[in-house]
Amino acid sequence: MKNIVFIAQHGTGKGTQCNLLKEKYNFNHLSTGDLVRNAIKKQDDFGKSLEKTINSGKLVSDDIILKMLGDYLNQNTNDFGIIFDGFPRNLNQAKELDKLMNSLNMKVDLVFYLKISKDEALKRTLGRLICPKCKKSYNKYYDNLKPKKDNICDDCGTILNSRSDDNEETFNNLYDVFIEETEPVLDYYDSCGVLKTIDASLDALEIFKEIEKVI
Ligand SMILES: [Zn+2]
Repeated sequence: MKNIVFIAQHGTGKGTQCNLLKEKYNFNHLSTGDLVRNAIKKQDDFGKSLEKTINSGKLVSDDIILKMLGDYLNQNTNDFGIIFDGFPRNLNQAKELDKLMNSLNMKVDLVFYLKISKDEALKRTLGRLICPKCKKSYNKYYDNLKPKKDNICDDCGTILNSRSDDNEETFNNLYDVFIEETEPVLDYYDSCGVLKTIDASLDALEIFKEIEKVI
């Protein structure tokens, strides 16, 4: 199996693709967002400092993310491969990830860039609703993604949440950072011969078919 990096703007449905891959092929899904959220939940000194960083709209530093990734990779070896979701976000992280993987006799085999327009990404981000219980995701701006009853999970009847970081100001900040920091990462992986760009304006299952053709 292969170790895969996903690169995508906020709101491209990257989480859906990661879940589809995980369910069908048994990948380990390593989401740096989840690593951070889990650390915050502990509410120790480290968790509280992370929470403060996130709430002020900043990104967690590379050193901290790399330390958390290293700990995770040491504890979770997997024959099926790992999906990196939300990392690397910049060129330094991409190079540091290669070093970390090397030291563990692993490598990044494939990088998927899910490409989408800014307007579409905004609509997807602000419309997103997530079931806190079963984690199913919805979007109130798309007829095919709306819950059947407003704000209620189709599968388990739980009241849906919008994530607290899904607002327009946060989106714009993240988008600007994304463009500035990600383009060098894409160039880097392109030069390594592992980059695959996928049109993320397709619907989720079509995107998944494109991904399956490559893995
Ligand atoms: Zn649910």
